[in-house]
Amino acid sequence: MATIALVGAGPGGLASAMRLAAAGHRVTIYEAHARAGGRMRGFDAGPYGFDTGPTILQVPRVYDQLFADCGLNREAYVQFRRVSPNTRLRFWDDTMLDLTSDLEAFRAQLAALRPDLPARFDRWYMEHIQKNIVGYEPYLGTPVRSIAGYLKPLELAAALPFRPWESLYQHFWRHFADERVVYALSYPSKYLGMHPTRCSSVFSLIAYLEFADGIWHPVGGFRALAQAMAQAAQDLGVTISCNTPVKRVVTTNGRATGLELASGERVAADLVVVNADFAHGVRHLLDEHDRGRYTDDRLDKLHFSCSTFMIYLGINRRYEDLPHHQLYLSKHILRRDRPYIDDSALDDVDPPFYVCNPTIIDPSNAPDGHSTLFVLVPIPNTRYGVDWAAHEQRYRDLIIERLPMLGYHDVAAHIVSETRYTAQTWQDEFAVHLGAVFNLSHGWTQLGPFRPHIRSDAVRGLYWVGGAVHPGSGLLTILEAAKSTAHFVAQDLAAP
Ligand SMILES: Cc1cc2nc3c(=O)[nH]c(=O)nc-3n(C[C@H](O)[C@H](O)[C@H](O)COP(=O)(O)OP(=O)(O)OC[C@H]3O[C@@H](n4cnc5c(N)ncnc54)[C@H](O)[C@@H]3O)c2cc1C
Repeated sequence: MATIALVGAGPGGLASAMRLAAAGHRVTIYEAHARAGGRMRGFDAGPYGFDTGPTILQVPRVYDQLFADCGLNREAYVQFRRVSPNTRLRFWDDTMLDLTSDLEAFRAQLAALRPDLPARFDRWYMEHIQKNIVGYEPYLGTPVRSIAGYLKPLELAAALPFRPWESLYQHFWRHFADERVVYALSYPSKYLGMHPTRCSSVFSLIAYLEFADGIWHPVGGFRALAQAMAQAAQDLGVTISCNTPVKRVVTTNGRATGLELASGERVAADLVVVNADFAHGVRHLLDEHDRGRYTDDRLDKLHFSCSTFMIYLGINRRYEDLPHHQLYLSKHILRRDRPYIDDSALDDVDPPFYVCNPTIIDPSNAPDGHSTLFVLVPIPNTRYGVDWAAHEQRYRDLIIERLPMLGYHDVAAHIVSETRYTAQTWQDEFAVHLGAVFNLSHGWTQLGPFRPHIRSDAVRGLYWVGGAVHPGSGLLTILEAAKSTAHFVAQDLAAP
């Protein structure tokens, strides 16, 4: 049994702590903030409760598996409700499309867009049943291997027919030849930090998994999911010490031996797991000689995702007929030039945006007759130096004016509570490097073995978990990363 010190109670930290404690280790989490959950921690504003980050829960079995692997029943901690439709999209030309797991209803909508689309969708869907088999477990669901480890003839032979070298855009265009369908199915690339023309088509699996398994909402919100994971970790014996910022990882002869807390106290540990945002953690928690190849220079060369402008509204009315997830895809998404392709400048003319309307299926977050709205607009990360003091109010007004495009009429007159985040908020209050909320982007040079490694290359007994490591930045992939962290710890402890 090892003593493990874990920095950060984000989703990756909580999931790793659960697994490590279930494996018999003594785990203590040191979390800087008063509340566990990281970007998922949420907040209250008067009578309203808000989720801060994630609103889309994919592949619930991964959560079930996390709890079950730890000998627990997920449903005893948090309930999930299925959202329907999965997401409603409104396009630049005013057409609409509901992505839904009711495939018959989806085919009918496609037929209204163009008669040949349902048959094309059927071919695409059948192909993805197979792609999921050859892609999910070997590539997403297992610990990352060395580059040579990916050169297995049988695996390669199974994967190559799916043309992983294509971009998401090329992939969906080949299948559908319709810009609306292409962008409807490839929009999750934004959450991978990339435009569909730059993102690998391996991520078409996300669209498939949303059709196949639906999109879900944790009752009480994602902040309730964070609390459920924290409670489960504690039930497994984990100590969570909130309001306890860590100053640095202590190393002795190239091995992690504990932490120095901001208070000056030192805690000894056999192993250290860091769940703080990777680039932030490398810069702030490691001494220069422990950073390995991740020097400032190298971090400057990595590609990070966009950030998000957030408006969290508590309002004294409800929009009963509007779906949980809605996305407006403006014509700017069709552009291939900078800054549209890389979010390197603020789009203050016609930005795409997303609205979540959670109160309708989960009234727990607002008083009777009231509701909350979660408005998200992709914006440049802080590398591109937007002056938010100068832009924030005007940008907020622009987005509020445009809410009717998604059916949210007359919102301004009903606002009781309003909280806003910019890229600077994510950077300063959530300790996210550049405020790049979806972490390192997922281009070929930052995928699989090319992402930062879970098992540190520079320091023995040090592990990283979270959105920056393999397999990637969403909750689903972070939960897979936590499985890999526990795997590497077990492997290293078993080594002579
Ligand atoms: C607006 C938004 C929308 C999103 N939507 C989705 C979605 O719909 N679906 C989805 O799957 N994902 C979504 N994501 C992504 C998801 O939230 C993140 O990928 C995930 O939260 C990252 O988890 P993590 O474990 O890597 O780290 P984090 O959530 O960043 O947690 C890291 C923790 O480490 C702590 N920490 C940092 N430094 C220190 C220190 N020195 N000492 C102690 N503690 C420290 C922090 O306080 C924090 O609690 C969204 C993110 C955002 C911001």
